[in-house]
Parts: sequence; structure tokens; C-alpha cells
Amino acid sequence: MKALIIGGGIGGLSAALTLHARGIETEIFEQSSALGELGVGINTLPHAIKELAELGLLEDLIRVGIQTSELTYANRLGQTIWQEPRGKAAGYDYPQFSIHRGKLLKVLADAAAMHGGAPRTGHRFTRFEQGPSSVTAYFDKDGAEVSYQGDLLIGADGIHSSLRAIFFPGEGPPLWDGVVQWRGAVIKEPWKTGNEMMVAGPRNSKFIYYPISNDVKEPGKQLVNWTFTIKMAEFGSAMQNSADWTRIGDRRLLEKYLQEVDFQLGSLDPAAIIRATDQIFEYPRCDRDPLPYWSRGRVTLLGDAAHAMYPVGSNGASQAILDARCLADCLAGSNSAPDAIAAYEDARRPPTTDIIHRNRRGGPEQVIDLVEERAPEGFDRLADVVSEEELLSIIKGYSTLAGFEKDQVNK
Ligand SMILES: Cc1cc2nc3c(=O)[nH]c(=O)nc-3n(C[C@H](O)[C@H](O)[C@H](O)COP(=O)(O)OP(=O)(O)OC[C@H]3O[C@@H](n4cnc5c(N)ncnc54)[C@H](O)[C@@H]3O)c2cc1C
Repeated sequence: MKALIIGGGIGGLSAALTLHARGIETEIFEQSSALGELGVGINTLPHAIKELAELGLLEDLIRVGIQTSELTYANRLGQTIWQEPRGKAAGYDYPQFSIHRGKLLKVLADAAAMHGGAPRTGHRFTRFEQGPSSVTAYFDKDGAEVSYQGDLLIGADGIHSSLRAIFFPGEGPPLWDGVVQWRGAVIKEPWKTGNEMMVAGPRNSKFIYYPISNDVKEPGKQLVNWTFTIKMAEFGSAMQNSADWTRIGDRRLLEKYLQEVDFQLGSLDPAAIIRATDQIFEYPRCDRDPLPYWSRGRVTLLGDAAHAMYPVGSNGASQAILDARCLADCLAGSNSAPDAIAAYEDARRPPTTDIIHRNRRGGPEQVIDLVEERAPEGFDRLADVVSEEELLSIIKGYSTLAGFEKDQVNK
């Protein structure tokens, strides 16, 4: 059996590696001319790391990432709303990694290349034709049309998926909720022990901070990732900019909004951190509505192409990796690609649909919104504002839905 995969992102590369591990031949087609080390930080949770560890990638990830040991949710004034150990520190068998997106992609791409599965770059997917026993995918390569044949076609081509647009031609662009996320990475002294993650402020004015690498030239320092999120327009407004991780942000506008929010996070000073950052990126917070189906016969969607979601709860990439594992298992257990694809969609579409909806309500970070609504000027005693049961039901409800509760991962 041979799978053609559109897209050399986290989803496409994970799919290639997982299918290869089940003895299925794969070929990846990537529109970019090279797989660059793009973007800034990303968190990958133990449920996804378990899958990557089974592919033999754990040592590589330990080498390039930071094992996150603690997560804090706080309000704008730095008052703690929720704090918990993460990854191995929480008793998981696998770590949570805070990692540079480009480094994660490189680990996956290097592993794919070792199996002779390096992506064919410069191939932009345009259309497909399928028959009773095969599928042919067509690509634009330097202005000429080239085609490849396989037993199945996987669209792992991200939030702007061309394959999804063929299935749903009237869908239009991603849905923007009016929030812009400015992001950057900067070399700093470790904050606390150098393994912690901070998420401060409600959904429309939030600061996130976590280290992503110890591999920096200055001794004793780390590369840290930050995100500053602010609402700038109404939900459903036309996006001024396309969703593109490499878009450079407007520093003056960012600083104006940052002053208005006035974070007071003790030893974490967002303004100073941002001032020290050379390159600032901006990205609209957008997702897509859940789909009524992902597949037609031998052709299916995976990752953001299937279920683009707001980046809360650190789950988009992790869910793409879980898709890959599920599809590989379904294909390995079947002689029929269409049957395996149908089983994969049955297993993965319902939970990812629920996560899209849950992320629209703030995901686990909804606990911060709740406290903000009830105590916008802060609190003396958290228990007067929200009960432990309410907090637990949001946080554990989310981790169970997304599949990263400790019992789900360690079993
Ligand atoms: C600001 C932000 C922060 C995030 N933080 C996290 C986090 O902490 N944890 C987490 O798990 N997730 C996070 N995510 C989500 C995560 O980045 C995505 O869910 C993940 O990258 C999806 O992977 P993918 O492979 O499906 O898509 P992509 O990473 O978008 O890859 C798609 C690939 O397909 C290629 N492609 C597109 N069209 C074509 C075509 N026609 N032909 C050929 N190739 C094509 C693209 O060039 C690209 O290489 C975040 C997202 C954002 C925006």
C-alpha cells in the first residue's frame, strides 16, 4: 500500500513516520521550496510525545526541547488561579515539551529522510482523481503539472488546505475572532527553575511565557517564547493579514496595547521581554468550523486541514500527531484503504470536533476568563471567586476530552 501525503508540516511528517512504522510506503509533497526552521515556540503534550517516542524520537526531542515541569494560570495581576506539575513532574511516563516549532519539524523531517522519505519540496497540490483501485494526485512543479499515483491520498496541508477546498469549495477563508497574537523568542535568564510555563490574563488580553531551548551561546541563559494576545476587531471581521507564521508584527501597535493592559506579573515583565526581542511575528487567532465529513473513498484530511482549532490548550499539533497514529493503525489493520479511512474518520472526527468547540470557549484557559468575569480587579481569596470543583471540571474535562489525562497516557 502506498500513501501520498500533501504537506510536510507536523501532521504530514508524523503521518509519514507512523505509516512507515506500519510498513506502509509513503511519499510527502510540500509546496515550499525547502523545509525552513519557521515560527517560534510550541508545546507538545505527553499524549503526542508518547507517539513520537514510539517512533524512536524521544532522545532527539530531549536534545532540542525543554521538558516543561509546571504550568500556571494567573490573572493580569499575576494572582495564581491554577498551578499544576506537567509531564514527567506530574507522573506521566512521557514529558511535555516546550520546543521551537522549527526544531520539532527538523526532528521529524530528519527521521523521515533517514527512511528515504524526505518530502518532495516545490510540489503544490492542485487536484486529484480517484478510481476503484488507486488515486492520482496532481501538483504544480515549477509551473508544470506533475502527477503521482497511490492507494490513498492524505491532505495534511494545514488551515489553508487545498484538498479541503476541493471537498468544500464554498467554505472561504479561516474564521478570525478579531484577536491578534504577537509572538517572539528572546534569550533571557531562566525564570524560576527554567522549566515553567505561565499563561496570564483572559482570552482577549493574554501573556504567555515559556522557555524553548537551553542551547544558546550565552552560558546560563535560555531561549524563551512569548505570546501577547489582544482583541482588535469584532468576531467575523475580515482578517487584515492572512494566517501565516512568518508575518512580521507591528511593534508600535503591540506596545500601545500592552500599555493599556498593564500586566503586573512580578519578576516577569512583558514590556521588557518584548523590548528585548529582535523579531516579532503576528498571527490572527482563527479556526474553521467542524466538517460534516473528512473523507471521500481513498482521500482524507488530517491535522489542521481536518480540524483547525484556536491555539489554546496546546493541542493543535498534538491532535495532528494523534490523527497520524490512528490512521496508521486503521490502515495496518485493513486490506482496504477506503474502509481504513472511514474507520479513522469515525474515530477522530468526533473528539476533534468537540475540541474545536471547547477551544472556542477558551479550552482549559477558560478558568482565567471565569475569574476575570467575577473578579476583574483581582481577589483576596480565590475560593471566594471560584470553587475547586469548577476549576477541576474545566481543566480535567479538557484534558480528558483531548486525551492527555495521566491515566489515558500511562495506560
Ligand atoms: C500561534 C499558534 C500557536 C500554536 N501553539 C500550539 C501549541 O503550543 N501546541 C500545539 O499542539 N499546537 C499549537 N498550534 C497549532 C499547531 O501549530 C497546528 O495545529 C499544527 O501546526 C498543524 O500541523 P499540520 O501539519 O496539520 O499543518 P501545518 O503545520 O500548517 O502544515 C501544513 C503544511 O502543508 C503545506 N501545504 C499547504 N498547502 C499545500 C499544497 N497545496 N501543496 C503542498 N503542500 C501544501 C504547508 O506549506 C505546510 O508545510 C499553534 C498554532 C498557532 C497559530
